[in-house]
Amino acid sequence: MTYLAVPISARNAAQAAEQVRRAVAGGAEMLELRMDYLEGITVDLAGEVVRQTRALAGTAMPLIVTCRDTREGGAIDYPESLRIEVLTMALREGAEFVDVEFANSRKSAFRRRIEPALTAAPKGRLILSAHDFARPFDDLRGLYREIVQGFPAAVPKLVYAAGHINDCFQAFDLLHKADRDCIVLCMGQAGLISRVLTKKLGGLVTFASLDEASGTAPGQVTLDAFKRLYHCDSIDRQTDLFGVIADPVGHSLSPAIHNACLADRKINGVYLPLLVQGGREELFAFLDHVLARPWLDFRGFSVTIPHKHSALDYVRQKGGFIEPLAEQIGAANTLVLDSRATSDGRRLGAYNSDYAGALDAIADGMGIPREGFRDMPVAVVGAGGVARAIVAGLTDAGAKVTIYNRTIERAEQLAADFGCAWSDLEGLSHLHARLLVNCTSIGMYPKVDATPVPPESLKPGMAVFDTVYNPAETLLLKHAKAAGARTIDGLAMFVNQALAQFHLFTGQSANPALMRNVVLDSLRSLVDRDK
Ligand code: NAP
Repeated sequence: MTYLAVPISARNAAQAAEQVRRAVAGGAEMLELRMDYLEGITVDLAGEVVRQTRALAGTAMPLIVTCRDTREGGAIDYPESLRIEVLTMALREGAEFVDVEFANSRKSAFRRRIEPALTAAPKGRLILSAHDFARPFDDLRGLYREIVQGFPAAVPKLVYAAGHINDCFQAFDLLHKADRDCIVLCMGQAGLISRVLTKKLGGLVTFASLDEASGTAPGQVTLDAFKRLYHCDSIDRQTDLFGVIADPVGHSLSPAIHNACLADRKINGVYLPLLVQGGREELFAFLDHVLARPWLDFRGFSVTIPHKHSALDYVRQKGGFIEPLAEQIGAANTLVLDSRATSDGRRLGAYNSDYAGALDAIADGMGIPREGFRDMPVAVVGAGGVARAIVAGLTDAGAKVTIYNRTIERAEQLAADFGCAWSDLEGLSHLHARLLVNCTSIGMYPKVDATPVPPESLKPGMAVFDTVYNPAETLLLKHAKAAGARTIDGLAMFVNQALAQFHLFTGQSANPALMRNVVLDSLRSLVDRDK
C-alpha cells in the first residue's frame, strides 16, 4: 500500500489542529507532523501535538514525526539534542514512524538515543531520509544500498530535485526494483509525476500538500488534486498511464478532461501533465525512457507546443505508424503506444486529431456531412500550426481555401503546400466565402476585445468558426451572430479532438457532454486563478 501523507506544518498547536482536521476531511491516509515548523518547541509542546493529532485523526491514522535539520530543508533551526528528544518522545507516544536524516543517523548521539527508543517501541519504524534540493543525487542506487546495508530495518527515503522530467526515471527504476518499503520522490514541477506514480510503483508514501500555499517541498500536489483530479485511490500496479507532453503544461486542460472521462468509463488509467522542457533531443530522450520501461504502462500521449513536429519525427525514426494527414501536416498531437499490437511488444502510432476535431466541429455546426466541404469557398485566417492542420483537413475534403495571414511569407508557403490561394489581412475586407475560420490567437483571453475580421465582412448565410476557445464566445463570434451568420466555437473543436484522442488511447468513446462541462469548469477556474 502507498500512503497518501499530508505534512502538518503548523506554527502552533491550534494551527496544527486546524490542519489535521482539514487533512482528515480531505482523505489523508497518513500525517507527517513536521515539528520543525512549531515555534518555540519544547518536548512537552511536541507531545501535546502528537496526542492532539491522535485524538483528532483517530488511532488508525499512521503518524510520521519529523523534526527536520535545516541543512535538509527544516523550517526552524533547533539544536540537535532537542530534535532527538522530540523524536524519542514521539516513539514513546506511539508514532508509527520517526524520520531522521541519514547524514545525522551516523552520529553517535542519534545512534545512542534513537536506537534504544526504537527497541522500546516495537511498532515504531525509522525512516532514514536524504534530500538534494538542487539536483539528482550523484549515485541514487548507491545511496539506497548504503542506507539498506547500514540500517536493514529502516525505510530509505530519497528525495531530490528533478531539473528535467527525464531525471525522474532513475527514481522509477529504483521503486520498480526495490525489495522493501522505501520512499523515492522527485521535487520541482518536473518531478510532479513521481508524486502520483509512486502509487503505481508501490512506494511506501507520497506526500500531498493541504493547498497550493502550504507545501513543504517544491512541486507537491495538493490533496484535492490527488483525490479529485488524479483519482489516486484507484491507482495501482495495473494502472495505465497517459499524459500531455508540453512546455509549459501548467495551464493544460487535458488532465482534467481525460481523467474525468477515464473515471467515467471506469478505465484503470491516469492522465498526467508531462513537462518536457527543451527541444527535440529532450523529447526523444523522454520517449526513449518510456519505451525502455514497458512496466510503466504508458499507453498514449497528447502532444502540444513545442513538440508536435519532433513527436512525428520520433515515430518516423522508430518505424511506427503515421496517419497520412499527420504526415502531410508535419505534426502529431497524439501518440499511441500499443503493447498488444505486435510480437515485439511495442508499436508506436502518430496521429493528428486537430484537423479531425475541427472538421467534425464545422460539419456538425453547419449541419452537413464531411462530403459537403467539396468545392466550398473557405477563408482561413492565420498560417500557424492550427491553420496548417485545418487547411490540410479542408483541402483533403475538397474545399477551395484562401489563406489570410499577417506574415505574407507564411501564408504563401502554406498555400503552396496545400494548393490554396493566399492574401494579406487586408483581403478580409472583401470576403467571398461560405465558411470563415479563425486560426489566429486574436480574441483569446485576456485580450478579448480584439477580432481578426472587420464586422462588415460577415454576412448572413456564412458560417464562422473560431478556433479560440477561451472565451467560448469571442468577439468575432458575437459579430458573426449579429450579422446573421452561423457560429461554431473553438470548444467544439477542442472537445472533438480530445474525444478522438480518448478513442485512440482507450478504444472507447468518451462522453462528449462530460468533456464539454469539464472544459468549461476548467476554463472558469483558470480565469479565477489569474484574477
Ligand atoms: P501559431 O502557430 O503561433 O500561429 C499563430 C497565428 O496567429 C499565426 O498565423 C500568426 O500570424 C497569427 N497571429 C498571432 N497574433 C496575431 C496578431 N496580433 N495579428 C495578426 N495575426 C496574429 O499558433 P497555433 O498553434 O496555430 O494556434 C493558434 C490558435 O489556435 C491558438 O491561439 C488557440 O486559440 C487556437 N487553438 C485552438 C484549439 C482548439 O482545439 N480549439 C487547439 C489549439 C489551438 P503570423 O504568422 O503573422 O505570426
